[in-house]
Amino acid sequence: MYFISTRGGKGKVTGAEAIVKGLAPDGGLYVPEKFPAIVGEEFEKMIEMDYPERAAFVLSKYLSDLGEDFLKEACKKAYSTFEGTDPAPLVKVKNGLYVLELFHGPTCAFKDMALTVLPRLLKRSLEVTGSSDDVLILAATSGDTGKAALEGFKDVEGTKVAVFYPEEGVAKMQRLQMATQDGNNVFVASVKGNFDDCQRAVKNMFASEEFNTKLKENGMRLSSANSINFGRLAPQIAYYFSAYLDLLTGGQITNGEEVDFCVPTGNFGDILAGWYAKQMGLPVRRLLCASNRNRVLADFIATGKYDVKRQFYRTMSPSMDILISSNLERLLFEISGRNAKLTAERMAALAKDGEYTITEEERAKIAADFYGLYASEDDMVEAMYDIFEDYGYAMDTHTGVAAYVADVYREKEVNKKDFTPMVILSTASPYKFPQDVLYALTGNDVKDSFKGVKRLNLLTAMKPPKSLMELRYKPVRFTTVLPAKLEKMSEAVLEFVGGKIVPVPKATH
Ligand SMILES: *Cc1c(COP(=O)(O)O)cnc(C)c1O
Repeated sequence: MYFISTRGGKGKVTGAEAIVKGLAPDGGLYVPEKFPAIVGEEFEKMIEMDYPERAAFVLSKYLSDLGEDFLKEACKKAYSTFEGTDPAPLVKVKNGLYVLELFHGPTCAFKDMALTVLPRLLKRSLEVTGSSDDVLILAATSGDTGKAALEGFKDVEGTKVAVFYPEEGVAKMQRLQMATQDGNNVFVASVKGNFDDCQRAVKNMFASEEFNTKLKENGMRLSSANSINFGRLAPQIAYYFSAYLDLLTGGQITNGEEVDFCVPTGNFGDILAGWYAKQMGLPVRRLLCASNRNRVLADFIATGKYDVKRQFYRTMSPSMDILISSNLERLLFEISGRNAKLTAERMAALAKDGEYTITEEERAKIAADFYGLYASEDDMVEAMYDIFEDYGYAMDTHTGVAAYVADVYREKEVNKKDFTPMVILSTASPYKFPQDVLYALTGNDVKDSFKGVKRLNLLTAMKPPKSLMELRYKPVRFTTVLPAKLEKMSEAVLEFVGGKIVPVPKATH
């Protein structure tokens, strides 16, 4: 399998090269030359597999150059770091409504599904491509990617990882998770501004020749842990297959029956993986794209105009507080009939004018596969409350956004006699946002996150994840705050790479 750039740069690369590079030299994203299929006998073979085997099988369709045995071993090791026996359990809330829990990994968010695998894929890709450079993983995070990348890459030989998060844009648990990160090859700083400012500055670092040259002088090359890296996207395709297979083996559907998926969306990575699964032959009817108040995507699917010139809101689902959804570029490329020139023009217009518009024909193509809607903060709170009240199921705030959208879709958009099963993707543990979840379920405010954890535990009888409980006593290592500027951020990273920044543990937080 070869990969090409969405912006038409010449030549194609192998899976290993796509993973090592992260971003194509022309600034585009790597996409598979064509979509592999998993249907018929091959699909049926997956029924007998456990989750790591299913994931390795899906990966082998794209990353054959890494070797099947390697992929099996990598997935087995990656998913052994998850709590419980199934890394992606499907929970039945009521007839026809299921929640796919993707938060049982080391950092309690769905990013672990890919970021426990990516470091292994990257190391192997470096071997396969014969690169002798060390790799610097650079990530901008709206809260969850950063921690998952830090945890995935910490103390991995031949790598260093630097993470930037918006100072005001992450929840307390998320900030603590990053500020207390251990490992000898990690750097964390917050930047002034919101996630888009942070992501833009990091993208500029990727594009900066000067910065890249200086890294080279230090024997390092850049790579990305954000979902622009195909190695991050690929492991996410597997859980759509796995959820479908679990419905099948549980007798909830018959083989070939269509299923809807509802996905809490920010950077469009999670949901795009579902669309890839559909292109591979999985019987997906529609993908519901659930946004919070930052409803760029919902508006885009409704009107065909992508417009970021609008107010940015901070919400109770911070990991979805995003206006520029990077992975949409991959979908634009596909629905334009793989027109790289047009895709490049649209991305240039977005950078320059803050907007672009697709044709009505393209919009109709998107609307056939996707349904977009957003939830206000009140909508989300009510959806979380209702499901807890009626079925005793507690979910996090991001998943709450999806629960609202799934409900409206059922009520308003589809025929009442339509019994197509609905799977909501649950992207974080409720314990990662304990105060907001407690507020949604009970109306009570607590001042402290760890008090929130205790109360939530009493209310739901769900076991709090060990990794979050330990945070309370872990020393803070990183307190750096930087302006969202290429120069300052590059300088800090170069000091880190050159071994000049040694984080000092502080006693309390
Ligand atoms: C990252 C994240 C999302 C959004 O996923 P995208 O792939 O960026 O669309 C939703 N919920 C949580 C908890 C997340 O961490």
